[in-house]
Amino acid sequence: ASVVNRIAAGEIIIAPANALKELLENSLDAGSSKIDVVVKDGGLKLLQITDDGTGIDKEDLSLLCQRFATSKITQFEDLESISTYGFRGEALASISHISHLSVVTKTAQSSCAWRATYSDGELKEVKPTAGKTGTQIIVEDLFYNVPARLRSVKGGSEELAKIVDVIGRYSIHTDLGYSVKKFGDSHFSLSTRPGLPIKERIRSLFGTSVAQELVPFEVDPMEELGLKGAHGQITNPNYNSKKSIQPVFFINNRLVSNDRLRRALNSTIQHFLPKGHKPFIYLSLLVDPSYLDVNVHPTKREVKFLHEDEIIDAICITIREELIKIDS
Ligand code: ADP
Ligand code: MG
Repeated sequence: ASVVNRIAAGEIIIAPANALKELLENSLDAGSSKIDVVVKDGGLKLLQITDDGTGIDKEDLSLLCQRFATSKITQFEDLESISTYGFRGEALASISHISHLSVVTKTAQSSCAWRATYSDGELKEVKPTAGKTGTQIIVEDLFYNVPARLRSVKGGSEELAKIVDVIGRYSIHTDLGYSVKKFGDSHFSLSTRPGLPIKERIRSLFGTSVAQELVPFEVDPMEELGLKGAHGQITNPNYNSKKSIQPVFFINNRLVSNDRLRRALNSTIQHFLPKGHKPFIYLSLLVDPSYLDVNVHPTKREVKFLHEDEIIDAICITIREELIKIDS
């Protein structure tokens, strides 16, 4: 069974950045305001994420890495909304099958922190330790037992870049303190603090050329279509770049992709640009969760929603109006 689990885990977690995204989303779900990531050898030797969220109860530690034994299910009143969170109760379980995993965690009520170590879904050891309220997840030797996966990852700097990209995209959308650094290196790959204007947060990740040419937009709710609201930032026609940046799409606060949305927005904006130039797009969409359809393939979270055509049209019309204002 352990080999089967390992193979399954290797399908879900194909690179350190996939593991990181899952861990980051857990930290956000735990209400964290500060999230620090340390990476060694692109996350293959070490991937460590420390948050100041709610922490995990000691009683839950024995079940933490069992598939589907998630405590989050019980916290959501609306079962429908769970589908927006992609696959569930599988991230930590998967990671425990393909790495050496430890968790240090403390809730506000607990008098001490606990350090738990896991292997193949099982809790191996739990010991009291010192620590602040919050959770630290320590993933070591990722893919040590999945040679094929180890061969397919690009290694050091490329994996670090992917991790910085995921954190950076979340930092654009969720205004918290984030940091990513290389183990043993005081230099930060990325650092944001709460309260930074969105332009600054975009600058941290994509640079000044993007940040100085941004246009905000906002779409009013359309209850009959299940659209609760949308807002974002796009580059104006002065931004001249032929490099395409994967758009930053958040649907119900999860970083996702949606091909139709990407194509429609790109072509709407490109209409205003010289030939061959590519825009930057950030869009946050809030949709009635019961209208969402999340593709279960966990590594590329392609999310579709009901009334896609009408909603995409409304967004494109708003963007066009903003760009026409600038053009004239
Ligand atoms: P899921 O997030 O789908 O529930 P995971 O395997 O990602 O599944 O996490 C399992 C459970 O562990 C979560 O539901 C949550 O209760 C707990 N958990 C994981 N990470 C954290 C964290 N950083 N802070 C608090 N609780 C956490
Ligand atoms: Mg999770």
